[in-house]
Amino acid sequence: MQLGRGRDSYSYFPTDCVISVLLPVDGRHGMEVATVGREGLFGVQSWIGVRPTELRAIVSTPGHAWRIANREFDALADADPDLRRMLQRYLRMILAQTARHAACCRFHPLAQRLARWLLTHADCAPTDDVLVTHQRLATLLGAQRAGITSAIGTFERRGLIGAARGHILLLDRPALLQEACSCYGANRDAYSRALGMRQSDGAPAGVGYAGDDGRNQNGSHSRPRLAAKALASARDRTRSLR
Ligand SMILES: [Zn+2]
Repeated sequence: MQLGRGRDSYSYFPTDCVISVLLPVDGRHGMEVATVGREGLFGVQSWIGVRPTELRAIVSTPGHAWRIANREFDALADADPDLRRMLQRYLRMILAQTARHAACCRFHPLAQRLARWLLTHADCAPTDDVLVTHQRLATLLGAQRAGITSAIGTFERRGLIGAARGHILLLDRPALLQEACSCYGANRDAYSRALGMRQSDGAPAGVGYAGDDGRNQNGSHSRPRLAAKALASARDRTRSLR
């Protein structure tokens, strides 16, 4: 499924899916520049006037998401200072993430980027079973498929992951953390700073909802506060319209 097309565009709040945000290059998809799961939303760029045709998104892990028409979402943000501040902080985090992606692609080896990608997507999804093909990974990471297959094979032989057709299961998170480039930790820190969360709150500490093992202290995903805030506003508005 592709998002971001059409005149009447929406913002999407994933509940159990993961959205990969792509910047098209020469009319093609281009590589992934940001990842959105339960912790965030796709569509925040419309809030600052970026036309939806300038970015594309695909659902890289199937699942469900709430959506709200951008015009209605803009009105909610205008009327709710708390939501607006949260969106501003989230937008700063997304901008930092996209800039870091560019440097990551230039300076970090493919195996490190693959480990970072797998951890990020597992953080954003409800399970450690990431649904992705080698070809899709090659597209998202801007790499050759042969390089992806080689890196996956190496991780599999070392017991870090289990790979089946269209599935990659994370088996050893601590070892993958050792393999991942520094961008993974930097993105997690940026998310914590952006939304003012601390691990001691049992709240998200990273791009996903991570403690050191990628989960919160209860072993489950924390409530995505940005989405909860926005959707609570939407429900209030719905009630007021009845
Ligand atoms: Zn990196």
